[in-house]
Amino acid sequence: MKKINFGLCGASGRMGEEVQKILSAHKNTSVYAPSSRGKWDERKVDQVDVWIDFSTPEALQELIKKTKKTPIVSGTTGISSSVHKLLRVESKKRPILWATNMSLGVAVLNESLKAMKAIAHFDFQIEEFHHNKKKDNPSGTAITLQENLKKAVGKSLPEPLGIRGGGIFGVHKVHAMSDEEVLTFEHTALNRAVFAKGAVMAATWLVNKKPGFYEIRDVLFGN
Ligand code: NAD
Repeated sequence: MKKINFGLCGASGRMGEEVQKILSAHKNTSVYAPSSRGKWDERKVDQVDVWIDFSTPEALQELIKKTKKTPIVSGTTGISSSVHKLLRVESKKRPILWATNMSLGVAVLNESLKAMKAIAHFDFQIEEFHHNKKKDNPSGTAITLQENLKKAVGKSLPEPLGIRGGGIFGVHKVHAMSDEEVLTFEHTALNRAVFAKGAVMAATWLVNKKPGFYEIRDVLFGN
C-alpha cells in the first residue's frame, strides 16, 4: 500500500491527540501536525495527501483556505450554515467528508432510523449526554440523528435534549413512544479512540476519491 501523508488540524486538542496515537501505530504513514498558533510550513502542507480535522469552525475555515485541493475529513461540530455552504462549495473541487460522529455504531444508528417510518405516528425524543467541556449543545450527532429521524417520520419533532456533566465521551438515545410501548435506540462511546479510528478509516478511504461531499455512512454502505 502506498504511504499516506496525513495532515492534522487541531493536533493539540483532545481529539487531535487521539488521532496522533492511532496514526503512530499505523505502518506506512507520516503526519504533519502544525500547531494552531504557529506558522504552517507550506512545503509540508503541499505534501499532505489527506487532512483530518477536529478543531473549531474558525480553524476549519482557515484549513480550507490554506490547503487548496487536498481531501479533508472533518469532525468539527457546531459549524454555522455559512461554513456548511463553504464545505459544499469546496467539495466541487476536492473530496470532503464531514461527519458529526465518526463512530461506526452511530453510522449504523443513523441508517436504522429509516425504519422509524413504520411507526411515524409515535412520539419521539432524542437525548444526549456529554462531558462538561463540550462547547456545542445539542451535539452535532444529535442534530444529525434528528435530521435523519425527521426525514424518516415526515413530521416536526421536539428539540434534542443536551445534558452536560463529568467526563462522558458521548451517549445518544432515540426514544420512540406510544401508549403501549417504548422503543429506545442507544449508543455509548466508551472512549475517544472510537472517533479517531473512524476518522483515520474515513481518511484512508477518501484519499483517492473524486471531488464530492461524503458522509461516514458512505464509507460503510457506499453511495
Ligand atoms: P479541543 O478544544 O480539545 O481541541 C480543539 C483544537 O483546535 C485544539 O488543538 C486547538 O488548539 C485547535 N484550534 C482552535 N482554534 C484554532 C485555530 N484558529 N487554528 C488552528 N487550530 C485551532 O476539542 P476536541 O474535544 O478535540 O473537539 C474538537 C472538535 O471535534 C469539536 O467540534 C468537537 O465537537 C468535535 N468532535 C467530533 C467528533 C466526531 O466524531 N465527529 C468526536 C469528538 C469531538
